[in-house]
Amino acid sequence: CGIVGYVGPRGDGKALEVVMEGLARLEYRGYDSAGVALVDGESVATDKRAGKLANLREALTETPLPESGTGIGHTRWATHGGPTDANAHPHRGGEDGKLALIHNGIIENFHALKSELVAEGVEFSSETDTEVVAHLLARAYDGDLTAAMREVVQSLEGAFTLLAVHADQPDVVVGARRNSPLVVGLGEGENFLGSDVAAFIGYTREAMELEQDQIVTITPEGATVINFDGTPAQGKRYHVDWDAAA
Ligand code: GLU
Repeated sequence: CGIVGYVGPRGDGKALEVVMEGLARLEYRGYDSAGVALVDGESVATDKRAGKLANLREALTETPLPESGTGIGHTRWATHGGPTDANAHPHRGGEDGKLALIHNGIIENFHALKSELVAEGVEFSSETDTEVVAHLLARAYDGDLTAAMREVVQSLEGAFTLLAVHADQPDVVVGARRNSPLVVGLGEGENFLGSDVAAFIGYTREAMELEQDQIVTITPEGATVINFDGTPAQGKRYHVDWDAAA
């Protein structure tokens, strides 16, 4: 339902704060669960909870996540699998704890994809359509998360905004969109992704629009866009001038 991504200077450790603020600004859209993933050295740390953002906030106060410069956050409106902690996003792919993924929308062909993975021995820990994408991405990953995303989106049908992080590329968040919104927020030495500009309006008003079937890779230095077929693309930049004081 709501998506936030952030990458900034590693030393600042600002990712959790930015992601939680973004999720709070997206709360008006309604949701049943919330979760975050932060890149932490050799792995990705996650926490996800059914219920209000306040539940997640409380859990994070009791068991804090490590400081990080790179993170993603999600508020879920369940379509496949009930609103439980296990079904909340982020979802992990692979067995090394290095990859986490969030998703808005519906993967229409997840059943077929899941059957293939299960037949190959992949174990699932949720009932969501989303988790197949996490596993496919982990399998496709060969040192370049953008390339892995490009490969995986070819096999997906339906509507999706996807954001992924991988511990081996700690300064990168990769996003993809089809039939579902994703906007880039451009900062100085830090960059943002959101399902809606509200996700990052507290930090920057410089935004970039993505078109249908595009992948964006953000680092602290910039944002690079390609089409699903791999050709380079240019996002359309604009200034967000509506008043978002609240
Ligand atoms: N279909 C996914 C799920 O049920 C994502 C739902 C959403 O857009 O929040 O987990």
